[in-house]
Amino acid sequence: MADDARGFWKTPAALAVRANPDQPVAELECNGTPGFVGDKADGLRLFEERGAVLSSLQEKLYANGRSGDRRSVLLVLQGMDTAGKGGMVRHVIGHVDPQGVDHAAFGVPTAEEKRHHFLWRINRALPRGGQLGVFDRSHYEDVLVVRVHDLVPEEIWTGRYDEINQFEKELVLAGTTLVKVAMFVSLDEQKSRLRERLERRDKYWKYNPSDVDERQLWPAYQEAYQAMLDKTSTDYAPWYVVPCDRKWYSRIAVTELLIDALEKLDLDWPTATFDIDAEKRRLAES
Ligand code: ADP
Repeated sequence: MADDARGFWKTPAALAVRANPDQPVAELECNGTPGFVGDKADGLRLFEERGAVLSSLQEKLYANGRSGDRRSVLLVLQGMDTAGKGGMVRHVIGHVDPQGVDHAAFGVPTAEEKRHHFLWRINRALPRGGQLGVFDRSHYEDVLVVRVHDLVPEEIWTGRYDEINQFEKELVLAGTTLVKVAMFVSLDEQKSRLRERLERRDKYWKYNPSDVDERQLWPAYQEAYQAMLDKTSTDYAPWYVVPCDRKWYSRIAVTELLIDALEKLDLDWPTATFDIDAEKRRLAES
């Protein structure tokens, strides 16, 4: 971690927001800034600096992918409406070269998707070697919205936690680092973000009347999120629980999580596959 970043993170983000079974989501302070000791101005400045670091690491991942490295990183974003998934993609992933990003968003399954196993559409969207994958919603919808709305019988969704763990274990063994981020916004902050969508012409498109119905189901969602964290936060694919009432915080936290994941790959620039001196000579003579 750069000196400047280290100064503001009292505890590294990957430790500060790692899911902890002793800290239930119902008690999470959504306007908190775990691990970070600076204020918003510090956070915004750091965001730009660290975005440049993220960009350089992602370029190395991409360069290695072009040279045959099959490894990849997959950011999984889950969160209630208005938690800021879209902004996370736009601002955090916005720091890196779009060529190196495999982005997928998962909505209500299509007729074709419904005919398949719930992991079918996920498998088709996995990042290729050298890519930074981003899932805006994911296979976890199948134990969240599906559980809350009884979209399949209980005996089916209860089996999915183990299926997901097995699926993710195989992914990790095949070279994908998973960065799973559960984004939490408070009920009050969600209300004010929804209100803004109703007050601004440029935000109407983001408003969905069903978001208000989902608010009524907040306790059921909290329970589903808690079960998800309890059952699928593993050593090989842990969950990170990120408070999102302060967007500037959630964005620097996720930037740090991605930097951490990429640094652990210990990437270097690929070596030349040609004779550099000979090529210099050929170029000079051309
Ligand atoms: P967003 O709300 O993220 O902007 P959409 O408008 O496409 O995106 O809405 C996504 C909706 O699809 C959410 O309500 C989500 O719960 C729902 N969804 C995603 N996956 C599933 C699933 N497997 N089964 C049922 N609903 C799902």
